[in-house]
Amino acid sequence: MNNLDKLISYFETFPGVGARQAKRFAFHVLTMNEADTAELAKLIANLNQSVTECASCHRFFSTNNSATTVCTICNSSNRDHNRLLVVERDSDVLAIERAGVYDGLYFVFGGTVPLLSSKENNKLRGGALKATIETRIPEGLSEVIMGFSINPDGENTTRFIESIIGEITKSHEVTISHLGRGLSTGSELEYADAETIKNALKNRA
Ligand SMILES: [Zn+2]
Repeated sequence: MNNLDKLISYFETFPGVGARQAKRFAFHVLTMNEADTAELAKLIANLNQSVTECASCHRFFSTNNSATTVCTICNSSNRDHNRLLVVERDSDVLAIERAGVYDGLYFVFGGTVPLLSSKENNKLRGGALKATIETRIPEGLSEVIMGFSINPDGENTTRFIESIIGEITKSHEVTISHLGRGLSTGSELEYADAETIKNALKNRA
């Protein structure tokens, strides 16, 4: 495979990018000037050194201090540590933070459990979520909010998580709630506007 084909096949692995778009990206790179492609290559090559996965919520955050293992949200005393919002991916956290309507903590689950697939996604953090909840219960955790998109895969993921954490939340009287009306059927959290996210959170049940 030549370098151009290799680049195209890398772009094809990006979320939401099909074969045609991957080709357009690769040909766009060809039109970029040398300084920009060098900068882009350097950024990608060094990304891991400047970004860390939070040990608590598992979202990626920028850090210049390699000793920091927990992100600014998890570390903040201004946030409500009694509420935990479970979302599919990092970009969902960004969308909710941008909306500025939630002051609890997050947990990035790492994907969804597709309704119609027997393929196991080993990036999912079911065990880590259960452990986080167990750790947080003595610290006052009172509510776990399921923040998945309103579609069959999102709903299946919610059921999957409830089967993992149901027993421990029930025995410690931790409420499990779900995003409410506001988020329309089939809509993805990541693309929802601030007002929609606000309503979905406000109307959780
Ligand atoms: Zn965090």
